[in-house]
Amino acid sequence: MGAGDHVDLNGFIAGVKRRNPGQDEFVQAVTEVAEDIFDFIGDKPKYHEAQILRRIAEPDRVVSFRVCWEDDNNNIRVQRGWRVQNNNAIGPYKGGIRFHPSVTESVLKFLAFEQTFKNALTGLPMGGGKGGSNFNPKGKSVNEIMRFCQSFMTELYRHIGADVDVPAGDIGVGGREIGFMFGQYKRITNHFTGVLTGKGLEWGGSLIRTEATGYGAVYFLQNMLKSKGMDVAGKTAAISGSGNVATHAAEKVVQLGGKVLTLSDSEGFIHDPDGITQDKIDWVKTHKTHRRGRISEYATEFKGSTFHGGGARPWGVPCDLALPCATQNELNGAEAKLLLQNGCIAVAEGANMPTDLDGVHIFKAARILYAPGKASNAGGVAVSGLEMSQNSARMSWKEEELQAMLKDIMSGIHDRCLEYGRSADGHTDYVKGANIAGFKKVADAMLAFGVV
Ligand code: NDP
Repeated sequence: MGAGDHVDLNGFIAGVKRRNPGQDEFVQAVTEVAEDIFDFIGDKPKYHEAQILRRIAEPDRVVSFRVCWEDDNNNIRVQRGWRVQNNNAIGPYKGGIRFHPSVTESVLKFLAFEQTFKNALTGLPMGGGKGGSNFNPKGKSVNEIMRFCQSFMTELYRHIGADVDVPAGDIGVGGREIGFMFGQYKRITNHFTGVLTGKGLEWGGSLIRTEATGYGAVYFLQNMLKSKGMDVAGKTAAISGSGNVATHAAEKVVQLGGKVLTLSDSEGFIHDPDGITQDKIDWVKTHKTHRRGRISEYATEFKGSTFHGGGARPWGVPCDLALPCATQNELNGAEAKLLLQNGCIAVAEGANMPTDLDGVHIFKAARILYAPGKASNAGGVAVSGLEMSQNSARMSWKEEELQAMLKDIMSGIHDRCLEYGRSADGHTDYVKGANIAGFKKVADAMLAFGVV
């Protein structure tokens, strides 16, 4: 195709599918973005002449490597590791590391693609990347996890750096794993730099990083509700997941006077009609993080609550607000319809791409308040960006300062979504707003660099 040739959306998606066989999650993420971007660039030839979307949808590079480690029974185990560096037009690559058996190149490519738009939306100078491995941390000893993290970093270290690519945590990678990986990076390179975020407070970490994604998602939800004269107080919320994002989202909903009814994990969900209070959230945090327990045990611990197994998801529980905070594609079209039938008025995604394409179309058509993860869960990477600044300046901000910055960044993202997503009748399509605002910032930088 020559410069200036018009390609329709279907032709573009067909090309993405052809070039990325079997990478369904990646194709899904690109499709969702392209649906809005094609509309936006229709009358702006400079973007399609320079093939900007096509270039953002082709990672700068994908590094794939073998990760060999020895388990406690002296068996040699082999996993695959990746780092996807999607785009560094506006800053060093930045994005988490995921350890989960479901990790594939497609999953990491979709996450790195999404991250590119999300990071642009924060207003901070960060490009998009993502990494991880199909390693399953469940049931592994602490020593096994340490050996795996060290082996993973022994290859990864040559591809990252404080001004090159700065990974963070994600599913299966929390403070402990970041510690093991940072220790190995420092041991190999002899450099103490801000090469990872989510670090411990004693060694370069930032206050409120742990809470930032979940809190930020609820701040975003608050902004959406406020735009319609509403509030979180007195509303019921269904939340999925029971990890970092879910528990902190639950905590903030409770702090703002809302009632949290559900949490989940990959085995099923718990429903607590009395509300999941702060004490109960604290129990979940300890139970899941320190004891590595399952959410099903909540129902034994707290009378009046029930566990629904077999991988059941909480979207059939009537609620005003829904916060999917577990993983991708955990809310499908039928579940989106069910939420709407039961009176749900707002959805804020804590996870990345938790709603499948059918669900996205249903929420968009219903014109409810619906925030895509790239907007509503950007608080985590935003505070990671602040951690990078603190590391570079060798200083640390106080908690109140960081809380204020997080709130400010989340309302800045909300404003950017309004700028590009609000229609004449006052309705805001947050998906469209986030896609266009994120795209425009990255695209304009890419135009300045010429054909690279
Ligand atoms: P955690 O590992 O702390 O928790 C993940 C939670 O999701 C667990 O409850 C886990 O249950 C559940 N889960 C994982 N995989 C599946 C699955 N296939 N089906 C059902 N449940 C599943 O991860 P985080 O809370 O950090 O991440 C959650 C989501 O938020 C992810 O999409 C992540 O990319 C996104 N995110 C995270 C950020 C962060 O700062 N941590 C920043 C921005 C986005 P189980 O214990 O059974 O595995």
